[in-house]
Amino acid sequence: MDHAHIATAETPSDVPEIDAPDLRPVTSRKPRTLPFSLSREGKRLRNVVGAAVTDFGMIEEGDKIMVCLSGGKDSYTLLDMLQALQVVAPVNFELIAVNLDQKQPDFPEHVLPEYLAKTGVSFKIVEQDTYSIVKRVLEEGKTMCSLCSRLRRGILYRTAKELGCTKIALGHHRDDILETFFLNMFYGGKLKAMPPKLVSDNGEHVVIRPLAYVREKDIVKYANERGFPIIPCNLCGSQPNLQRAVVGRMLEDWDKKHPGRIETMFRSLQNVVPSHLADTKLFDFPSIRANGVDEDALDAFGGGDTAFDVDQAIETAMRADAGAGAPQASSAIQFHTSKPN
Ligand code: SF4
Repeated sequence: MDHAHIATAETPSDVPEIDAPDLRPVTSRKPRTLPFSLSREGKRLRNVVGAAVTDFGMIEEGDKIMVCLSGGKDSYTLLDMLQALQVVAPVNFELIAVNLDQKQPDFPEHVLPEYLAKTGVSFKIVEQDTYSIVKRVLEEGKTMCSLCSRLRRGILYRTAKELGCTKIALGHHRDDILETFFLNMFYGGKLKAMPPKLVSDNGEHVVIRPLAYVREKDIVKYANERGFPIIPCNLCGSQPNLQRAVVGRMLEDWDKKHPGRIETMFRSLQNVVPSHLADTKLFDFPSIRANGVDEDALDAFGGGDTAFDVDQAIETAMRADAGAGAPQASSAIQFHTSKPN
């Protein structure tokens, strides 16, 4: 993740009331062509993004999508990819890029307006001094990110409402989703990640994460290729989330030592078998009875209790992982754009 500059979607109910942001006018409408040339890598990423958009039904005809832009590599890539999809998608949708200028010291406020003016995308810069609020409210030395991100989220949601946006797009990618999964497991005792699409807690917004299938290392590569004017994420002087960084390094390490493991882990998030977990809210364990062999029931049980059986596919994968080459997970992502590249 760029860092917490991109709001997470679980809407806080306790966002303090603050003055309405100063909105600058929308500058342009949906482009018919791209203002940049899409490289081979860019086209590949666009197809990966398109797959997620399709799988989760993220974008519909007539959507007006607010794209949250922090000035980090993820959000620049998000905007590029949505613009690229806009040109080829079978549905029509509008984009409005929104940046929240939180008045952090030395925030280069000219960078995003200058960049966005060249993209042809409508945009708004919302100016709101949350930096001072956080500094004033919190004692010296306290972690600022939690309050800061709650304030930011509230402002962005309010802005989406004012703009009449039907969707809010955030730049979280596959590695963010997996990191969140492990953080929730390690520290929250929950099997919970970051959904590619959800309704905010106040029920007013549909939040989408079109980069859900995109690997962070591919974003890094693409951002370097495009030379985005990245705004540093440490302007507030706050510490990044240390535990997230630790989990991020753990994933990186696994990725190096066991190529394919990250893909497999992400696939597991899309292939959940509630009957083989232990959550009584998800599966009606008390009603289980021995009813003889029932193929439908076996399917519902994810193939029955094979935990102690030798699973051919898993055995093969483990051997390959321990041996010379780990298996390359086949990508389940296929998206067919309506126009040729
Ligand atoms: S306190 Fe700083 S690092 Fe934390 S979310 Fe706010 S701007 Fe980002």
